[in-house]
Amino acid sequence: MSEWISVIAVYWTLWAIDGLKLAPRRTFALIRGPRRFFARLHYRRWLPPSFSPFGWRIITSDIPLSLSPEGVTNLMSGSAGRPAERPVSVRAWRWEELEQVGVAKGWLYLNGQRFCPDTGHLRAPDLLALARLPPDHRAARIRRLVRSWFRPGHLQRRARVLAGRTRAAAFLNAVALAGTCLLSIYVAGNVADYLGEARAAAIAGVLPWTLLALLILHFAGIMLGWRALRRLRSADPSDRRGGALFSALLLPPQALKIRLLAADGYFPAQHPLAAALAFARQSDRQELGFNALADLRWPLASADTPAAAGAITAWFSAELEPQIQATLHLMGLTPATLLQAPEPDGPTSCLYCPRCRDQFTAGRSHCPHGIALQPTLPNSSHRNDRGGEAASCRFPSSKRRDAAST
Ligand SMILES: [Zn+2]
Repeated sequence: MSEWISVIAVYWTLWAIDGLKLAPRRTFALIRGPRRFFARLHYRRWLPPSFSPFGWRIITSDIPLSLSPEGVTNLMSGSAGRPAERPVSVRAWRWEELEQVGVAKGWLYLNGQRFCPDTGHLRAPDLLALARLPPDHRAARIRRLVRSWFRPGHLQRRARVLAGRTRAAAFLNAVALAGTCLLSIYVAGNVADYLGEARAAAIAGVLPWTLLALLILHFAGIMLGWRALRRLRSADPSDRRGGALFSALLLPPQALKIRLLAADGYFPAQHPLAAALAFARQSDRQELGFNALADLRWPLASADTPAAAGAITAWFSAELEPQIQATLHLMGLTPATLLQAPEPDGPTSCLYCPRCRDQFTAGRSHCPHGIALQPTLPNSSHRNDRGGEAASCRFPSSKRRDAAST
């Protein structure tokens, strides 16, 4: 029996880790469960899978670069993730300087130097095409690109098509998962010992047929998955789903998430706010909306930022803001309500950082990230003036806060 327990443990370990992904840096994953409620939002490097055969996942990240008619930089604008990712080394290229664009191990390389993660927002050939455009055509092309990253309705339509074309495969996966679960419990839990001898013998006679049925479900699931993949065109030119399906054919625990496999690379790269509008709950939308807007209005400053990169991000932020505001409008949110000054969280708080929302007592002008502080709303319940207290900074826990290192 012990060898069977090892087999079962390996089987379920392979099932659990199937679909786990490591992104080059923190990335958003929206994971839809079996039923029609909102997707769970994660922002991390290790991206969990959906464990339900009926679930799927959309992976999207902040736009990893900024563009302008003059050039391109790997400094980001309108980031919805916190802490906001910053490149190890800020680079900026004028379009005339751009000669080579390559992709390796999930990163874009410009003129032989590592530039930014290859998130799918802008492919290497698109970057080269932008560089070769006449300068007066570039602004219009970049504006079209920016609009293409804010299409929540398109994501929802694709999600409906995905669900429709993988319905049969997901159903077979669910039956196979339930059957394998019951079989594992029966074997690992020594259930036969608790049954009478006659019953145990009867079940032992049925077990080979159960295994055969599971094997048939496995092959049928793979075949339906293969048919679905042929009809679900990937948005990623380096579509690896065929290879993943072949791997699943050889390793049955990997064949229980066909819908998740089909969703991999199927959704086009979008701004995280567009994906949140399409699938996330309102509290997540609100948080991402605030983060993106605050990043446009109060970007993290750095002494080593080249002037060219600053000019490119300023132009790009001005192009992003109308799209972000339009998306917020569809969420029923406005910049005025999102960015409203908070009430003091204590009797001595009178200043706050508009980006991370941390509050401070009097005596300093900037937060540790270099953002100019603003006055909080007056609050009658905390208006006991204690101006004589030593000025100090307090950091209430906040999901919106940037890491101290950024
Ligand atoms: Zn701050």
